[in-house]
Amino acid sequence: MRNLILCGAPGSGKGTQSDLIVEKYGLLHLSTGDLLRAEISKQSELGQKIDSIISKGNLLPDDMMITLLEQHIASLPEHTKGIIFDGFPRTENQAIELESLMKRSGDETAVLIDLHVDEKETIQRLINRGKTSGRSDDNEDTIRKRLVVYHKQTEPVADFYRKLNKYQRVDGMGTVDSIFQRIDEILKDIYY
Ligand code: AMP
Repeated sequence: MRNLILCGAPGSGKGTQSDLIVEKYGLLHLSTGDLLRAEISKQSELGQKIDSIISKGNLLPDDMMITLLEQHIASLPEHTKGIIFDGFPRTENQAIELESLMKRSGDETAVLIDLHVDEKETIQRLINRGKTSGRSDDNEDTIRKRLVVYHKQTEPVADFYRKLNKYQRVDGMGTVDSIFQRIDEILKDIYY
């Protein structure tokens, strides 16, 4: 499998662009945020623990996140063309674990696409989404906390992939279609 990492601050449009990539290239969308929200909706003990972390804008501990992700990947259909990792890895340690998982399974991370959006714009997008999303973390205080966490813990992931020559920065401002065209320029060389 040739996998793709879609990275970017909260509100940078990763979910929207993932839908378009799935439509054109038939990749499988794996959003760790969606995975965690599915666990919360089961109202299990684990779900409650996850909810209390997410609603504060913090990240789940790496070991917990990696275990959940590995379990999920093991349950995917065998002939998957590739996975879009959306919201993972979010720390350098998760990136190291992902690359070691890829080696063990004979797969690879083809590229990390880093969607760049002005911070003012991401905050506004998330506040608007919060009006209908029902997400406990789409309120202004938690949004600001998530952005701080992003700069501190997730930005080093970009450097990690830059060193592997797998980093591509994409301007995430503009219309959904124009952003997709920029992403498509990169993907068409990878997935033909
Ligand atoms: P998202 O839907 O990607 O914005 O994720 C929502 C929240 O889920 C994040 O703010 C984190 O609390 C948690 N989360 C999602 N992915 C991860 C991850 N890879 N590592 C740790 N926490 C995560």
